[in-house]
Amino acid sequence: SIPLSFFAGIGGASKAGVLVKGSNYLESLSKARYVVFDKTGTLTRGVFEVNGIHHNEMEEEKLLEYAALAESASSHPISKSLQRAYGKRIDRSRVSNIREISGNGVIAEVDGIEVAAGNAKLMKTLNITPVNCHQVGTIIHMAVNGSYAGHIVISDVIKPNAKAAVSALKAAGVEKTVMLTGDADAVAKQVAASLGIDEVYSELLPGDKVEKVEKLLTEKPEKEKLAFVGDGINDAPVLSRADIGIAMGAMGSDAAIEAADIVLMDDDPLKISKAIKISRKCLGIVY
Ligand code: ADP
Ligand code: MG
Repeated sequence: SIPLSFFAGIGGASKAGVLVKGSNYLESLSKARYVVFDKTGTLTRGVFEVNGIHHNEMEEEKLLEYAALAESASSHPISKSLQRAYGKRIDRSRVSNIREISGNGVIAEVDGIEVAAGNAKLMKTLNITPVNCHQVGTIIHMAVNGSYAGHIVISDVIKPNAKAAVSALKAAGVEKTVMLTGDADAVAKQVAASLGIDEVYSELLPGDKVEKVEKLLTEKPEKEKLAFVGDGINDAPVLSRADIGIAMGAMGSDAAIEAADIVLMDDDPLKISKAIKISRKCLGIVY
């Protein structure tokens, strides 16, 4: 039978903005020793600003228009940011044949012209050689009508509580913090270093994230638990695979919230250590 203190724990957690879907997750949480984070939307806000547009012959404004239109059907944080930067009303009737390539970008027809927007990997699959950009940031390469058309440099900001969240986990006895991302290596390393994250893996496809978590699961001592924290549609498989799946509730995707065991109502990463403390308290564990 479930001890009464578990219900008190779930109630206490929910008052703190942490939704726990079952008492068994409180027990797992009390044993969390590995915390694995997705980057975008979890440690960073997931709200990108445009920092530069590097174009060939095409007008800067036109390149941004093609990007915003091609991205108009996607709910990825990058898509929303490009649409916001464009700032004009988007006429969806100009866009057709939209294909979103998870972890890579989008390809669509805009005014009947093929437009691709995404990372270097996406360009390579189209046999297009992207230009190397020296500006640090997330680079959205663009191909229009089969030719390289330039790139848009965007950057995200770290959440105000992210650094405190990582140190609070360490103070609560978490041995290892890991960051996984599909983003470029330079950006990933910069974010991880500034937050004091122990290990970082970049340029991962959604499937690679599952593999990494599986590897970490075999590496850690059996009695200890691994928590994964994410927000995206792509994160659902990893959330299910981890001992404890934690989703961002406010800005996160429905699929992530559905797949998670625990939901952080206000997307605040500092709530992870709070939840661990609540779980230990209700299990009577003195740490
Ligand atoms: P993360 O691991 O940071 O959550 P994703 O796996 O969602 O990132 O995406 C990884 C990379 O793929 C992005 O950094 C970007 O380069 C590219 N990408 C993904 N979706 C899009 C999109 N809709 N438009 C442009 N680029 C995208
Ligand atoms: Mg993500």
